[in-house]
Amino acid sequence: MRDGGLDAERARRADLLPPDASCEACGEDDPLVLDGDAALVLCADDAAIDRGEEPVEQHHLAKRGWNIVLDLTPNWHRVITALQNMERGVTHGKMATLLRGIAHLILMVADYLDTLERKQVKRHG
Ligand SMILES: [Zn+2]
Repeated sequence: MRDGGLDAERARRADLLPPDASCEACGEDDPLVLDGDAALVLCADDAAIDRGEEPVEQHHLAKRGWNIVLDLTPNWHRVITALQNMERGVTHGKMATLLRGIAHLILMVADYLDTLERKQVKRHG
């Protein structure tokens, strides 16, 4: 897992969205959580609400090997799934898989704080 992996994924997804896309319901502009295939650009949370669903998805912390399941909002689930997918095709022992699952949670929150900080810098110069 390398630093900037999520940002590379963001750049890749941004290419699939209209320029400067943001959720038409809440303004979220993280390409990782936006769906651009519908007529309306919505984040995963608002897309669920739009479908009349609870904005909650189950996340298997350490894939199927451990029975540890967390309820996450769809937006958070998108980010942590992107982290998991970066390791697709790589197998680890059961314990290492659990530790990586916990690491993904920490990376997800760190990424959120980085993004928040960048937004504040953009706003305040
Ligand atoms: Zn939204």
